[in-house]
Amino acid sequence: MSPELTETAKIITVADGFCVRQAVDNMAWIDMGDYAIVVDALEGQELEADVFDAIASTFDPKRISYVLNTHTHSDHTALNPAFGRRCGAEIVNLHTHHIPRDGRWFEGTQRRAVMLPMGGVHSGHDCIVWVPSDKALFTGDLFGWGLIPLAGPLRDDAARRVLDAYALMIEFDPHVVIPGHGPLCSSGELKRWVEYFNHLCHQVRDAVLSGKTDAQIIEQTAPPQDMAHWWRFVQWKHEDSLNKVLEAVRCGALSI
Ligand SMILES: [Zn+2]
Repeated sequence: MSPELTETAKIITVADGFCVRQAVDNMAWIDMGDYAIVVDALEGQELEADVFDAIASTFDPKRISYVLNTHTHSDHTALNPAFGRRCGAEIVNLHTHHIPRDGRWFEGTQRRAVMLPMGGVHSGHDCIVWVPSDKALFTGDLFGWGLIPLAGPLRDDAARRVLDAYALMIEFDPHVVIPGHGPLCSSGELKRWVEYFNHLCHQVRDAVLSGKTDAQIIEQTAPPQDMAHWWRFVQWKHEDSLNKVLEAVRCGALSI
């Protein structure tokens, strides 16, 4: 996320001993009982003191044994070294560890969490983290409040990987969805995004087949009303998604 997109951080208590620091970049600290974990580590090293103060008001940061990175883009890993230095925490992501396809469990006396690899969607090293006792799901950047979460171009195989990832995330039926960026939500928004994406693909393909120009298609494909309040959706995300679908349909690479 670019620096001009900063906003004031909120500390949201998901449950006792489970806090999310929500801003443009999100992170969380979770008391597992006999130790604690952190999920994601923000973009700016200058936030170190602020973050450690916030954690200290929940529990002693020295109890943090693991930092789980949903992926290794720099806006999710900046404080990794600080957690290593201050707490001796082990950094866990797909660059540092092999994580089996059926996930790596972190078992605690109060909670457990599983980290599951979902590579090849937003990056080659995506993971999600599921905390069953709180029905909380960390999606990393797989959910982007309206963004098509692909690093590369939209093509049939990539679209299928995205839809498979969403099917798996929706199957958990999360009550709390913690995306990599922006406000928290729940499984309803994950389902709504899948509908939106499928609808966009069909609508654009029909419009191209009927001979409409790009300008006409863009003008006629308004952001859905019920998504107008989605975080920064109307400002730029809908247009970005529309352009990606348009490009894919124009080059004959999207048949879903
Ligand atoms: Zn990312």
